[in-house]
Amino acid sequence: MAAKQKKRYVMVIDTLLCIGCGDCVVACKMENEVPDGLSRDWVVEEVQGEFPNLHVEYRSERCNHCSNPPCVYACPTGASFIDEDSNITLVDPELCTGCKSCVAACPYDARFIMPEGYVSKCTFCMHRVNDGEDPACVSVCPTHCMYFGDLNDPESEVSQLLKQRQHKTIAPETGTDPNIFYLT
Ligand code: SF4
Ligand code: SF4
Repeated sequence: MAAKQKKRYVMVIDTLLCIGCGDCVVACKMENEVPDGLSRDWVVEEVQGEFPNLHVEYRSERCNHCSNPPCVYACPTGASFIDEDSNITLVDPELCTGCKSCVAACPYDARFIMPEGYVSKCTFCMHRVNDGEDPACVSVCPTHCMYFGDLNDPESEVSQLLKQRQHKTIAPETGTDPNIFYLT
């Protein structure tokens, strides 16, 4: 029997369509019961260009599910890991001691400590993905500027978009190999 091909789940976000409404942030909070004052995703507003030709870029940001993740390397207990089948980085709360090594190691400030003492962050809504659904943020976006899928499948929408459109990742110079791509 042929070996099952591993997936590389990624998110592709069209910055030309994002209006910065924050619905993705609200959806994530509701779906994942994120406590008040903490967030698994957030919207960045960046002014680009030179006066008078200015442009505001809105970016919905979250854990980049890096393929070369310093958070995983920094974790002394194995609580932070990459799920081999999906390439999603996850945290096992049972193994997490709350030492914050991963929080310090992440260049994107994507992790936080839950009131119970373990680390949390975006999981790409793995519970929904396992049921064949999109992550909550992707499913509610009113401008449909977010796409989720498998970059190892050349026919997937995310693969096609990255072939057709200019794109960037955040802080690629850190060497983390991020898996959130922004169409520009
Ligand atoms: Fe780890 Fe931060 Fe990369 Fe997410 S964005 S995989 S928490 S280093
Ligand atoms: Fe690992 Fe938890 Fe420490 Fe992070 S806080 S490095 S997940 S044990």
